[in-house]
Amino acid sequence: MRKSGLSLTLLGMLLTGQLVLAAGALDVRLAPAIPRQGKCFAVAIVSAEGVTAAQAAFLGREFPLFKDGADYKTVIGIAPEQKPGKYPLSVIITRADNSKEDISKTITIGATKFPVVSFWLKPAKKKLLTSGNLIAEEWARVEKVLVVEDPNQGWSGNFLLPAAGPVSMVFGSKEYVNRQPRGQHRGLDLAVNGGTKIKAANNGKVVFVEKLSAFGGTVVIDHGQGIHTLYFHLSKFLAEVGQVVTKGEVIALSGNTGISSGPHLHWGMSAHNLRVDPVQWTKTEF
Ligand SMILES: [Zn+2]
Repeated sequence: MRKSGLSLTLLGMLLTGQLVLAAGALDVRLAPAIPRQGKCFAVAIVSAEGVTAAQAAFLGREFPLFKDGADYKTVIGIAPEQKPGKYPLSVIITRADNSKEDISKTITIGATKFPVVSFWLKPAKKKLLTSGNLIAEEWARVEKVLVVEDPNQGWSGNFLLPAAGPVSMVFGSKEYVNRQPRGQHRGLDLAVNGGTKIKAANNGKVVFVEKLSAFGGTVVIDHGQGIHTLYFHLSKFLAEVGQVVTKGEVIALSGNTGISSGPHLHWGMSAHNLRVDPVQWTKTEF
């Protein structure tokens, strides 16, 4: 009696297609479960057998998932201004037979408490800050390398702080310059003395080395899969474009170049051309 009962259940599942679905269902994992404003989360399809491509859609943008052993994965950033709440994430999977599967998830974005900071810039530097579209123009130049998505993951393990120094401004700080609001800070400021050795936060390739007016001496490292780190206000470059660097390798010396109110390193991180908090990457392995 028991046996036939089980068979009946199996037969029922086969007829309704439940069993077929169960065997083919893909496991999409999110980490952390509740990402916060200004931080990143990883989307991974675990043991993606028979999958030939995958793409995620989130907050109006599309992100390719990259092959990672038997898995597919990508790391998505959340703008610091993004309102906390629930947002849909869709993962579209393409299989070898060209069939597609759309897996929907809900992402709950948690709030981050951002400090408010006021600082003063001397008139010459303040002028640079307010002179037309200088900052927008420089971002446009830097973004030419930030939009490049090398499918190979260059980084391994946690990222390093590029220099040991006191933190003078955290990511997302709400800035007031000479009493004028200026939006949220897009990096981590380390108040290191001028001439301090600046290290590559992780393995990657140097893709940008230029003296800019607002960002000062600037280096960008491409870590693959749409992940880049940025180093601003440098006084000396010790790496060149195209150079492959390893975690901890000295790439430059710190300075006070560009729009800067004192010697410091501005360390930035970009995930698919969106600036996110680099500190998360020193504590979390993506
Ligand atoms: Zn900064």
